[in-house]
Amino acid sequence: MYQTKAYAAESATSLLESASIPRRDPTDKDVQIEILFCGVCHSDLHQVRDEWKSVMPTVYPVVPGHEIVGRVTSVGSSVTKLKPGDLAAVGCMVDADCTCAECQADRENLCPSGVFTYNSPDKHGTAPVTYGGYSNSIVVDEHFALRVPENLDLAGTAPLLCAGITTYSPIKRYGVGPGMKVGIVGLGGLGHMGVKFAHALGAHTVVFTTSPGKKEDALRLGADEVIISRNEDEMQKHAGSFNFILDTVSAPHDINALLGMLATDGNLTLVGASEQPMEVSGFSLLFGRRSLSGSIIGGIAQTQEMLDFCGEKNITADVEVIPIQKVNEAYERLLKSDVKYRFCIDMESLKTA
Ligand code: NAP
Ligand code: ZN
Repeated sequence: MYQTKAYAAESATSLLESASIPRRDPTDKDVQIEILFCGVCHSDLHQVRDEWKSVMPTVYPVVPGHEIVGRVTSVGSSVTKLKPGDLAAVGCMVDADCTCAECQADRENLCPSGVFTYNSPDKHGTAPVTYGGYSNSIVVDEHFALRVPENLDLAGTAPLLCAGITTYSPIKRYGVGPGMKVGIVGLGGLGHMGVKFAHALGAHTVVFTTSPGKKEDALRLGADEVIISRNEDEMQKHAGSFNFILDTVSAPHDINALLGMLATDGNLTLVGASEQPMEVSGFSLLFGRRSLSGSIIGGIAQTQEMLDFCGEKNITADVEVIPIQKVNEAYERLLKSDVKYRFCIDMESLKTA
């Protein structure tokens, strides 16, 4: 075991602060990575503040961060995927049983014994729970390390590991492409990636936003149209017309109004993860034979596919790079929907924290 620097919160009401955490010495199957950039996901904020306590209570201290890119510093003797000096990435998962039906079907994200990158019981016993990417290094099984296309900007690549795959996976599952009218609800970290993917795949892409000030950006990011979701008239014009809607909103909101936007057999997939229950009227689903579903990140093979797709199309997240000392401020800005469109921590700043 060795110690590495990190940023951790001691309780649901504490700020994130400099800390030292243990990492395991790499085993034969492990890759050790020096972390260069880590994206700031709204899930980090939810978990630091214990906002998912009924589903996944936070164990403190918590070290968030699951949008990790860095450089491989060492590999175990049986590792074949990566070598020292390579760029590598880690997303939301660091372990799974790799034997269950879900894992066999390349859906480690649905494995009942999956281990999240932070705040999951640590199978290796290095600490009570896993610690995430707001740190200078990480050690993971090679299966959960991804290859990074060399042509992409690294800071803009980090958010692909959660915001990217979480939007790419349902967009692929529902066959988003030419001839489809697709809505993306909420223009934040996930939402802006959803817009880029839906546009790149050739769908007519429409953003639903509560922030009129984001309209120009939405169009620049690839949207064909923008709807201010709090404007009844604008909503009415599009009622019953969408084939697919991806809802990335991080707080309680009116899901029935969005379901009413779907055409016959349309689907709304929820990826936003507010802990509060939502009221769904049966009639929102009955009329138009509509469906409502959820989706959580994506499997490792699909994450690699998404990274390779981004490499080919030169797609990265729009990031505001911050030093780690600004992360608490960044959380406050997230709560005000004031992010364009992902904060990404330059981990060099942690060396002097
Ligand atoms: P984010 O950057 O904060 O973006 C969320 C956006 O939702 C905001 O920019 C805002 O967009 C909109 N919004 C916020 N509050 C709203 C409200 N009260 N009513 C309507 N719209 C509102 O967050 P993120 O990192 O993209 O994450 C979004 C959610 O997805 C979080 O709950 C996160 O935990 C969850 N998540 C889920 C998965 C998964 O696997 N399912 C993975 C990652 C994250 P506008 O200003 O455009 O309205
Ligand atoms: Zn995330």
